[in-house]
Amino acid sequence: MSHPATRLISVAIPAPLFGEFDYIVPESLSVPPPGARVKVPFGPRQLIGIVLGSVQQSATPPKKLKSILAVCDETSVLTPNLLSLMRWAARYYCHPLGECCQQALPTLLRKHAAPPVLELLRWRATSKPFEGRRNAHKQRALLELLGEHPEGLWQQSLSDAGYPPALLRTLEQRGYLVCEPVDVLGARSTAIPPLNPQRKTLSTAQQSALAQLQALPSGFAVALLQGITGSGKTEVYIEYLVAILAQGRQALILIPEINLTPQTFTRFQKALPYPIATLHSGMSDKAKYETWEMARKGIVKVVIGTRSAVFSAFQDLGCIVVDEEHDSSFKQSDHFKYSGRDLAIKRAQIEQCPIILGSATPSLETLANAQAGRYHWLTLNQRAGAAQLPLIQLIDIRSRPLIDGLSQPLLERIKHTLNEGNQVIVFQNRRGFAPTLMCYECGWVAPCHHCDVRMTLHAHPAHLHCHHCDARQTIPQCCPQCQSRALNPIGSGTERIEIGLRAQFPDITLHRIDRDRFKRAEDMQGLIDSVATGQPCILIGTQMLAKGHDFHHVTLVCVADADSSLFSADYRALERGAQLLTQIAGRTGRGQKRGQVLIQTRQPEHPLFSAIQAHNYSAMMQELLHEREHCQLPPFSKQISIRAESRDANRAEACLQNIKQGLALKQMSAHALSIAGPIPAQITRKQNFFRYWLHLFLLDPALRSALNPLLQGVLSQHKDRHVRLSLDVDPLDYL
Ligand code: ADP
Ligand code: ZN
Ligand code: ZN
Repeated sequence: MSHPATRLISVAIPAPLFGEFDYIVPESLSVPPPGARVKVPFGPRQLIGIVLGSVQQSATPPKKLKSILAVCDETSVLTPNLLSLMRWAARYYCHPLGECCQQALPTLLRKHAAPPVLELLRWRATSKPFEGRRNAHKQRALLELLGEHPEGLWQQSLSDAGYPPALLRTLEQRGYLVCEPVDVLGARSTAIPPLNPQRKTLSTAQQSALAQLQALPSGFAVALLQGITGSGKTEVYIEYLVAILAQGRQALILIPEINLTPQTFTRFQKALPYPIATLHSGMSDKAKYETWEMARKGIVKVVIGTRSAVFSAFQDLGCIVVDEEHDSSFKQSDHFKYSGRDLAIKRAQIEQCPIILGSATPSLETLANAQAGRYHWLTLNQRAGAAQLPLIQLIDIRSRPLIDGLSQPLLERIKHTLNEGNQVIVFQNRRGFAPTLMCYECGWVAPCHHCDVRMTLHAHPAHLHCHHCDARQTIPQCCPQCQSRALNPIGSGTERIEIGLRAQFPDITLHRIDRDRFKRAEDMQGLIDSVATGQPCILIGTQMLAKGHDFHHVTLVCVADADSSLFSADYRALERGAQLLTQIAGRTGRGQKRGQVLIQTRQPEHPLFSAIQAHNYSAMMQELLHEREHCQLPPFSKQISIRAESRDANRAEACLQNIKQGLALKQMSAHALSIAGPIPAQITRKQNFFRYWLHLFLLDPALRSALNPLLQGVLSQHKDRHVRLSLDVDPLDYL
């Protein structure tokens, strides 16, 4: 039986398979538009796929064509622009389109055919005087509460406060309350946008950056805003958005770290009288769907979110900002390994809108693009307000004893700073008490039994923990090798530094900020508020603390161990080290008082430190760029890495060896493609899987289109069930 071509559609299926799948739309159903979801039979299962479009003729034999079971949406949930983005991403990252589309959908839409009903209702009190029973305390209290909020409160907030919807409805029927569906306010914003937005008067430097942004050609343009830490980049974004939002357009703000969401949200919401909503993985599926849907409907005007917010749907996107664009957390490291920053740039191109990449420490990729003139390059070289750049000093700890990770001169400086009534940050990029537990008799160190790494010692609760596979063990009483009791912690993590500082400064408030302590974004808000009071305190933290925070009373930043960032097999080690140290240093002296940075190191003569001390990030990056160019490493080549994992090391390695030979046979010119490996991953065995890498460096970007089908072939023809293969385009980590 043949089918009219118009009733044939191709569908992206959420399965690890390349290709599109054709289906028939039965006469009983209307043909869904591209971007709508449909329920389809797929093998023995029923899946929710995304309609890609109509097809004239299917390559599938008519007998094998199946019919869709249901149309889930009348209109596109993936807007045409998002669909284009996902098609591009699937090609660029060599990832099955169905899985890419799946990532772009909010979880609720992936799981449920019927889109959930959004109940975004706002309640206000009417002027009718209350005539209820005397003992109707709850109703009275509710009316009083609403009396204090003439602008109304969200049903969700009221229900959180103990006033269930049934009660609200009862009072509505009796004329005391009115309920309005949300029309202008952000779903996640319980705050009503202020009537009098508070914005700062821009400095001359900020004004000039703003003017340059406003002078960008209309349509797609990429601007790098390279502004030193504390130069007031956020205020520039905000002022730039004012005009865009006034035209009724929307904006997307991508930030690297969940914990920055509350702070960023508050700054934007105070300044911009528009509905703003957040989107990050710490939110419930329902909350995420609300933000997504409100932005899709054009109600929410600004979405602030972490990398996956790049898939937000918009009605009229007028601008994208990627703040801290260098941050590696924009890259998703498993499954669909996309870069949120790079997809944002592509998104801006598809939407034909400008994108601003902001950073004090831009990545080499972005700097190379700016230097080549592909990006507009704006700089802010002065701190905003009265703030000055901090003084950076090194403490050579080669011959100094450390007390729980800290040297005497450092402790003295901390004491002095606290005595002056100021705040201190101590940075240690390692969680736990100590990275190693060692036997002083025989040299045994506590290993993870599943990975090639040492177990980290944790004090509260006391245990050994593998940070790579999450395995936990109790701490042995004596050495399993020689039965000695001389087991000692070597090195220090945040927990040890906290314990040490507590002993040194018993009366001072200490805050430890790492992933063991803070699991959710909201959790940190209380701490940020308490630090903002200016009371002397010590903040101890991992890189969670290095990113973007704006603490005005911190005048001393201590780096407990800078050397770990210098030694790594990775060619990005120095770039990362420079970024991290510059960012950490940037957390001090942001208010009126000048800041100081103390770095403990055993390598004081390392050139990285003199560059950091001179606040000369750009010069240092220039040198690194020359090196990369010389070695034909990214950004002067494109890197695609293939990883094989197996319980059998030989098998993993052999699989990559085969792939390498296969690619070599395809006669890719050696001048255009260089292949390195197979080499073992930095942590070769993880969770009992041995991991090997094959690194491809494409020197000629034109080669990409020829390579793509080969890579797809490698992945789809891979049949060895004992080896897991995965591909990482523009990889950042090889752990
Ligand atoms: P960056 O993101 O560049 O590190 P921020 O945007 O966080 O810098 O600004 C640093 C601090 O300076 C913030 O506390 C901000 O409120 C303040 N600030 C920025 N611009 C101005 C200005 N024009 N006048 C006064 N203070 C400003
Ligand atoms: Zn021993
Ligand atoms: Zn492990």
